[in-house]
Amino acid sequence: MKTTTSFVCPKSSVCKLYQNRILPGPGTSNVYRILYCESNRYKDCVRHRIYRKTGICPDFIMPNSKHTDDYILKKIEEGDLADSLV
Ligand code: SF4
Repeated sequence: MKTTTSFVCPKSSVCKLYQNRILPGPGTSNVYRILYCESNRYKDCVRHRIYRKTGICPDFIMPNSKHTDDYILKKIEEGDLADSLV
């Protein structure tokens, strides 16, 4: 019998992007979930990296963000658009 392995990012329970609380439209239109969250590519996600470093991630950061970590961390320090663990 063939088995399937499904990947889900370990940060999905706290990630507002995964929970469809950032992008407009239905969850099915959130291609990031397919490209990153529900594949082993979650390790390449910028949000995942920032969550691991700080426990929070600003809403404007997408998985393929080109912002540097220093820039993102500065925005978090400034309290700019950061979401929380809850
Ligand atoms: S957007 Fe990134 S951090 Fe959020 S659930 Fe998807 S892979 Fe994980």
